[in-house]
Amino acid sequence: MKNSPIRRIAHVTIGVSDLKSSAAFFEDILGLDKMGEWPDYAIFDIAGVSFGLALKRKTEICLQVDDVDKAYQKLMARGLEFTAEPKDQPWGVRDASFADLDGNKFIIESFKCKVCGKICQNYPELLREHIRTHK
Ligand SMILES: [Zn+2]
Repeated sequence: MKNSPIRRIAHVTIGVSDLKSSAAFFEDILGLDKMGEWPDYAIFDIAGVSFGLALKRKTEICLQVDDVDKAYQKLMARGLEFTAEPKDQPWGVRDASFADLDGNKFIIESFKCKVCGKICQNYPELLREHIRTHK
């Protein structure tokens, strides 16, 4: 990697037309661990990489960075145009989004705990060891 702020693929979300059936497919046939399911979203853990199903949405690839704001500045300086500025999301991460040359959606994301400031390596760690335990 040439001085890239991107550490790894943290998360991939694919669009599905029937969430209940697709969630059952990935849980029962592929045997993946389901971390949560809501009316329009389900999330699985594949060895620390989150795999999401989103009802009637486009596929999104989420790239992990240590610091979203620093990565945002660095990539903007290289000419990348973002479609959404860095923002804290209600589920506990900070992210920003952009599209590639073909309109594929990408997100840069960091798993920094807003309470204690620790940078986690993945979302399950942030969820289990910080968001659910600080309360
Ligand atoms: Zn914490």
